[in-house]
Amino acid sequence: MPVNGRRDRCGDGPCRWCDRGGRDCRFCGGTGWWRPEKPERDAAGALRWVRVEEPCRMCANTGREHNPLEGSVPA
Ligand SMILES: [Zn+2]
Ligand SMILES: [Zn+2]
Repeated sequence: MPVNGRRDRCGDGPCRWCDRGGRDCRFCGGTGWWRPEKPERDAAGALRWVRVEEPCRMCANTGREHNPLEGSVPA
């Protein structure tokens, strides 16, 4: 997976969300990546937050809206 790249599709099978296109993933803004902050303990045991970059799990790094919670998958 290329860093900062986007995948064209979320998988090998047909996907209506991928086919539909035109709508950016609301979680990553269409980039396919998100930057959450994660807690990390340093050597002294103090908690701090570090910014990490991960492929967006909500759209499978496609940058396209893939959230079926909104309702049924549009035909
Ligand atoms: Zn898809
Ligand atoms: Zn996303």
